[in-house]
Amino acid sequence: MEALSPADLQPILDEIAHAMASATDRGEPATYIPELGCINPDQFGIALCLPGGQVLQAGDAATPFSIQSISKVFTLAIALGRLGDSLWSRVGREPSGLAFNSIVSLEQNNGIPRNPFVNPGAIAVTDAILHGLQPRDVLAELLRFLRTAAEDNDIHIDKDVALSELAHAHRNIAMAEFMAAHGNLQNPSALTIGTYCHQCAVEMSCVQLARAGRFLAGFPDAARLVSPARVRRINALMLTCGHYDASGDFAYRVGLPGKSGVGGGILAIAPGRASIAVWSPGLNAQGNSKLGAEAMEHLAHATGWSVFG
Ligand code: GLU
Repeated sequence: MEALSPADLQPILDEIAHAMASATDRGEPATYIPELGCINPDQFGIALCLPGGQVLQAGDAATPFSIQSISKVFTLAIALGRLGDSLWSRVGREPSGLAFNSIVSLEQNNGIPRNPFVNPGAIAVTDAILHGLQPRDVLAELLRFLRTAAEDNDIHIDKDVALSELAHAHRNIAMAEFMAAHGNLQNPSALTIGTYCHQCAVEMSCVQLARAGRFLAGFPDAARLVSPARVRRINALMLTCGHYDASGDFAYRVGLPGKSGVGGGILAIAPGRASIAVWSPGLNAQGNSKLGAEAMEHLAHATGWSVFG
C-alpha cells in the first residue's frame, strides 16, 4: 500500500474528531480515582506522528490528561533496558483475560503476574526498577525517558491525581503484599505503590504521547531509546495484553499494538507508519476509552494500517 501523505490523513482525523464530538454514548470516566472522576467527559483528542517528523492533530489533542496505565509501556522499556530478560522471572508474558485490577491470577500463579500491563505486573516492574533507588530517582528517570522520547520537557506528574489514587490504593496494596508473600516484591509495598501511583499520574497531551511513542514505531529519526529487537517485543505485548480483557477485541477491531489507560488515553503503533494517541475520558465496561477505541478502529479502517497486512 502507498504511504498516506499528511494531506490524505488530516481530513480523516478531522472527520473522526467531528464524529466523536457529537457522540452521545461516551462511556463513564473512572471514579475509583476521585480526581479522574471530575474530568469533563465531552473531550476528545487525536494526534499522530509520521516518519518524516510531521505531527497531525484534531480535537483536544493539546489538552494534558492522566496517562495512567500507558505509563506501563515506558516503565517496561526502562526495566528491560536495566534488567534485560531476567525481568521475566518476576512477570509473565501471557494475556490475562481478566480485569486490569484482578487479583485472581496472582493466587493461581504463586504471586507471578500474568503480564507487565495488568496492575500486579506493572507493580512488579516498578518494584524491579525501584530496587536500590529512591522513588524520586525512578520517577525522575521515567520523566527523563518520556521527555527525551517526546522531545518535550513540559511533561510532569499531576500530584493531585497521584495522591487521589494513593488514598484509594487498597487493592493495589493488597496485590503488592500478596506478591511479597510469594517473595516477588523487593521493596516495602508502600514505597513501590507510592512510586506506581505517581508514575500513573504523569500528564501528557495526545501530541506529546504520540511523539513519545515514535521509538516504538521504529522511525529512523526517533530517539534510539530501545533496540529494534526489544521494540518488536514490547509491541507484541501491547498487541496481546494492552487492553486487559478486551485485548483480543482491540487486535481484531484495530489490528495494531496499543495500550490504554483509565485516564481515557490510548497509544497505538502502526510500525514504520505512525505513532497514534487518542484521548476521551469516558470508559467502556473493560476500563478502556470508549470513543478512543472507536476512533482507533475508524482510523485503522480508513488508512488500512494493520500489523496483519
Ligand atoms: N493507576 C491505575 C490503577 O492502578 C491504572 C489502571 C489503568 O490505567 O488501567 O488502577
